[in-house]
Amino acid sequence: MDFSAFGWGRVVLLSFLGTLCCIAVAFAIDSYSFETGIWRWGEKPLNNLIIPLILAPPFFFYLLSKQRELAIAHRELMVVASTDSLTSCLNRRAFTAMVDRYLDRIADQKAGHHGALLIIDVDHFKDINDVFGHECGDEALKVIAHTIKGTLRDLDLVGRIGGEEFSVFLPGVSPERVGRVAERIRVEVSATELNLNGKSCKLSVSVGGVTFDRNASFSELYRHADQLLYAAKRGGRNRVEIQHASAGPDKQIQIH
Ligand code: GH3
Ligand code: MG
Ligand code: MG
Repeated sequence: MDFSAFGWGRVVLLSFLGTLCCIAVAFAIDSYSFETGIWRWGEKPLNNLIIPLILAPPFFFYLLSKQRELAIAHRELMVVASTDSLTSCLNRRAFTAMVDRYLDRIADQKAGHHGALLIIDVDHFKDINDVFGHECGDEALKVIAHTIKGTLRDLDLVGRIGGEEFSVFLPGVSPERVGRVAERIRVEVSATELNLNGKSCKLSVSVGGVTFDRNASFSELYRHADQLLYAAKRGGRNRVEIQHASAGPDKQIQIH
């Protein structure tokens, strides 16, 4: 039986418990004399068992099945509301909220919590649209999102935070490893062979990123990662710029 949050096992178990409650209530009402205030057996105690057994199980089962359908629909709606429909990455709002929640959680904890925020921007994407058309541009975005996800762990977060801009949050990754992860993303994207309308299309991304240990806020990390992204663009594109950010108690970041 499936006893998970929306499982049928839970529906059956709750229907069973609901029926037991109905039987107990039927016995209690039938056995108590409201005139004398005395407890005694009712005249037909078997009815207290039979009537709830006939009526309660279908009633509870129907009610709880509907509740289960509602819970599943709600969960699906939450997924749709937090996902970018083109790339299936998190949308900007959901990505920001999830990173913020993670950073808040680790802010009060002792040392040993680190990670990184990367911003990944497709190089000369406007030219891809101009040469191949907007639909092919969309296809390129899907391929890039798929490539980025393919280089990461399941617990890393990938968001599409702008038109041709993605962000990756790497919880618990040591500063030494972050550069290697970002470089892998860059290399994998530039190695991707994309054929659009019979013509080969070269893709590349620039990456700016900051690593942190604790007490960082999303907006500060984002601001610095964005500055580094623009340094990567100015440096010629198809590049990675990463720096370590140690944050003071006021969450202000000093870049090293
Ligand atoms: P840079 O290397 O400096 O980042 O140059 P760029 O051309 O990538 O940057 P720019 O900001 O000039 O252009 C971004 C383009 O991305 C313009 C916009 O039309 C396109 N774009 C934004 N969202 C989408 C989308 O959902 N689909 C497609 N096909 N294009 C998009
Ligand atoms: Mg771009
Ligand atoms: Mg951009």
